[in-house]
Amino acid sequence: MKKLSLDSARLICLAVVVAICLFLTTAAAANVAICADNGFLPLFPDDSLEGWKVSDWSNVATPQKAEGTPWRMENGVLYGLNKRTWITSPNQYGDFTLKLETMVTRGSNGGIGLRFPPAGDPAYTGMEIQVVDSEIYYRGDSAPQQRTGSIYDEIAAKNATVNPSGEWNAWEITCRGSNVTIVLNGRKVTDVDLSKETTARQQKGPALAERPVKGHIGFQNLNGNITLRNIMIKTDLPAAKTLDALRAGVARIDITPKKPVTLAGYGSRKDLSKGIHDRLYARAVVFENKGKQFVLVTMDVIFANEELQKVIMDKFKLKQSEVFLSAIHTHSAPALRRIHPGNKKTPLHPNNAEYMKTLKKKLIKVVRKAQANKKPVSIGVGRGYSPVGMNRRMTQPDGSVTLGCNPYGPTDKEVLVMKIADSDGKAIGAVFDYACHSTSLGPRNYQISGDLHGLAEAFVEKILGKGTVAPAFAGASGNIDPWFRICPTFNTEPGWVPEPVLLGAMLGEEVVRVFRDIKKTDAGGEIKTDFITMQLPGKKKGEAIKKRTHRPTALNVTAARVGDVAFVGFGCEMLTEIGMAIKAASPYKYTFVVTHCNGASGYLPPKPLYKEAGYEVTSSRFAPDAADMVVKQALKMLYELY
Ligand SMILES: [Zn+2]
Repeated sequence: MKKLSLDSARLICLAVVVAICLFLTTAAAANVAICADNGFLPLFPDDSLEGWKVSDWSNVATPQKAEGTPWRMENGVLYGLNKRTWITSPNQYGDFTLKLETMVTRGSNGGIGLRFPPAGDPAYTGMEIQVVDSEIYYRGDSAPQQRTGSIYDEIAAKNATVNPSGEWNAWEITCRGSNVTIVLNGRKVTDVDLSKETTARQQKGPALAERPVKGHIGFQNLNGNITLRNIMIKTDLPAAKTLDALRAGVARIDITPKKPVTLAGYGSRKDLSKGIHDRLYARAVVFENKGKQFVLVTMDVIFANEELQKVIMDKFKLKQSEVFLSAIHTHSAPALRRIHPGNKKTPLHPNNAEYMKTLKKKLIKVVRKAQANKKPVSIGVGRGYSPVGMNRRMTQPDGSVTLGCNPYGPTDKEVLVMKIADSDGKAIGAVFDYACHSTSLGPRNYQISGDLHGLAEAFVEKILGKGTVAPAFAGASGNIDPWFRICPTFNTEPGWVPEPVLLGAMLGEEVVRVFRDIKKTDAGGEIKTDFITMQLPGKKKGEAIKKRTHRPTALNVTAARVGDVAFVGFGCEMLTEIGMAIKAASPYKYTFVVTHCNGASGYLPPKPLYKEAGYEVTSSRFAPDAADMVVKQALKMLYELY
């Protein structure tokens, strides 16, 4: 009994609201704004078209070509009077329910544009819900996805009952994250998860999954006349499961040089490479959420500079903050620039110059492939520990510091692993970060190899299988070398590879163990990015301590967050103490320190080490104060994104 009375009370309320709405829309249009029902507000609150833009039907950025006033708003009714135009809302909308009624004249063709950008044809840049005269268009040979209720040219409406021309049709269209539902005359005719529509159906626009999830709302009058009324919108929708839907795609491409090349990292090697021990790859992860994306690429080469970063930015129209291009710093990969940049007598070998060209093309390919592979994902992070890295700053009896073995020196043992899984729980990516130089093959090696990180990546991909891609970062590894290459040294005769393979497998094993222990993955994950080029106190390369004022040294810092995971990239070779300080002070649960990222400004040592000097300090182009400024800046950026 109680339930009945409640229901009848609600019915009466509803009837009153409907009555008021009807009254207001026909009689006192200026007061339509007060007619809010369950959070629905008029899309035209002042009963005027102020702020709305009329344009040509083929491109909303092009002024109308048709003569006269094609759109009129009167007493809450919107009249589309002339052909071949769109009318576009001043505001943009992401998640909403749009309620309205439409009526067309005989032979008319119009549409409701959703989430489209300020330029282009909304049918292909956003979405257009088709509104046509059913008699004419059903009878003709129009395709199902071009009939009333369809997402035009994409998704055909199912079981639609469309009232004929001259009669009203009632709509309720909901866009929530990647979900779009269309209710026409009380019947759900379309219910689609856009994130699953990954194939572009025609040439004119990208797949629905690639379309923006926020944009303008508009109405089209292509042929005949369209009339619309009771146009109400509700934007405060309860959070959808897919509202924060993080999407990601991964890809891998072989970047092994086809011809012998000079190798990077040791000035002593002059000959061309002799054979391939293991193949080099570039690996990409593209993250996307609500149209915001960020691209992580790691290459099995020595460094990643701005020239290469720009290739990706330009091609995919990305901001500098949205591209993390990094390298694992293997010293058994092609030299990408002259070994002695100042010395004109050592130009880049023609084979290496050719390699650079190919590398650029392949970077575009691998990012494009990762973008095409994007799908809803969940992510989880775990940490493990590995003894593979060893501090290499060895104090000699006379107090000087040389490259060697320093078991007492700091190392960052953390192996940070991110698991990326698709909506079925299948792993697609295993991103890992471990602070160590990939130099276990040493200066006498002439074989191409990804060395420690490259071998670990290959190990992880082999063990996890099923196409899982495992990109690695070299972490803050400026003063860290592979353990038993330096403590004790092992044989580094040309072709001597057992220890590097063992070290790579050891690191890879820990990555796999941590990966398999990640039980919880999270589908949420807002994406934010930031980038800065710092001008830091500089010093002359070759001098232990800054002797006189020197021009500043630039450093690129890139930061990004995906949910509660942060990435911070540095265009330098950062010593391990600095990376550990950043990780310790970062507000995030997990912070990936990505080095050799978007720049190659050389070694960045922490201030206290300048007293001891040694290789990294002497060859650095940063003055002692630089590191503290970098730590502060990185934390500032991480906090701002938090
Ligand atoms: Zn190095």
